[in-house]
Amino acid sequence: MKYTFKGGIHPGGHKNTEGCAIKLFSNPAKVWIPLSQHIGAPCECLVKKGDAVSVGQKIGEVPAGALGAPVHSSVSGVVEKIETLSDIRGNLIKHVVIANDFQNTLHESVAPFPKKLSEATTEEIIAAVREAGVVGMGGAGFPAHAKLSSAIGKATTLIVNCVECEPYLTCNYRLMLERPSEIFGGAKIVAKALGVKQTIVAIEDNKPIAIKKMTEEAPEGVRVVTMKTKYPQGDERRLIYALTGKELPRGKLPADLGCVIFNAETLSAIYTAMATGVPSIYRTVTVDGDAAAEPSNVLCPVGTTVRDLVDFCGGLKAEPEWLINGGPMMGAAMWSPDLPVTKTTSGILLFTEGASHVREETNCIRCGRCVRACPSGLAPCYMVASVKVGNYEEAEKFNVMNCVECGSCAFGCPAGIPLVQYFKLAKSEINKRKKKK
Ligand code: SF4
Ligand code: SF4
Repeated sequence: MKYTFKGGIHPGGHKNTEGCAIKLFSNPAKVWIPLSQHIGAPCECLVKKGDAVSVGQKIGEVPAGALGAPVHSSVSGVVEKIETLSDIRGNLIKHVVIANDFQNTLHESVAPFPKKLSEATTEEIIAAVREAGVVGMGGAGFPAHAKLSSAIGKATTLIVNCVECEPYLTCNYRLMLERPSEIFGGAKIVAKALGVKQTIVAIEDNKPIAIKKMTEEAPEGVRVVTMKTKYPQGDERRLIYALTGKELPRGKLPADLGCVIFNAETLSAIYTAMATGVPSIYRTVTVDGDAAAEPSNVLCPVGTTVRDLVDFCGGLKAEPEWLINGGPMMGAAMWSPDLPVTKTTSGILLFTEGASHVREETNCIRCGRCVRACPSGLAPCYMVASVKVGNYEEAEKFNVMNCVECGSCAFGCPAGIPLVQYFKLAKSEINKRKKKK
């Protein structure tokens, strides 16, 4: 049986890099490490210009009582400067710029979890995950320790999200083929922390080799299930619906329905942190697009610039018009190749103008395609009509706040309306007004 959800779309897979084994780019000359790579408050900087730092050293700490995850140095070297840059969402974020000394000196705090997993308490595991700065690496950046804490006593099912439904991205796919034990190791740690009764690994049916590999490697009691290939199958709400038949209402957490969901690479980071003590300082990134000379999958230190990463992959074969951080559906356009890879960067896509699907916006023709595509059961055409005339109250009545910004509606819109951009604007305006009140 293949599990799926209502709505959704079928964009081309473009998994051009599925045969590209993960290459290691361990030594960029400099890294720019943002002090905010997560949902929550930016970290306070723990270092200053001229400080010597080592691999795994904590350089940013979350303000007391705030949601967030610490940030660590991904190389050893010297802090060159602390620079404020605009990130991909336009937020001004402090970056710690470190000149690499190429010694790869490990910080003394980097040590494996001191107990056997069977003897560890829930609190000890959560504290270790927090100290390692692990966040949701599928793109959301929600601190993993906070997700674990919120699921204590509620979650009975762990869903391992290996769906990777965004076109082009294959970094999770390669992880499944090359390091499945890390994914299962992380799943075991989460299962132990929360005492979940069952673990389900969800993989789309366009990845038969990964399904076979993960099924062969799965420990006893872990079930690998095949999902129908459809976008956005990897969205938490769609996964829960597909696997349990339950709708997750807005404002509720997966744990309220007895589920906790972790992406493959997040579990690998949790495993690495517990087994070796190395915090979340590396990231596997898919580099692709028609302007990329050598589409690749690369494991690189967090803070590596996109420019260095692309150069490592053989540079450009054409001038890119678009530089996308993430997948083409939910990723964000980058304003500079000098911005860094963060814990949540799953892909860097370089597209020439000819490959872009950006069209001139015309009037809505009421075709209803967006309504059929929306996995959240919304009416994007009505929502956008309200937003265009600045009637955010009406957009809210049409449940614009339930939009998960998946882009399914815009994908097939014959009028070329950038629906998601309008919905992001509306959500930000509604939130601003609520804060003012
Ligand atoms: S309205 Fe939002 S949730 Fe629905 S398809 Fe569009 S972007 Fe996705
Ligand atoms: S898909 Fe585009 S043109 Fe069709 S109803 Fe929706 S917004 Fe209008």
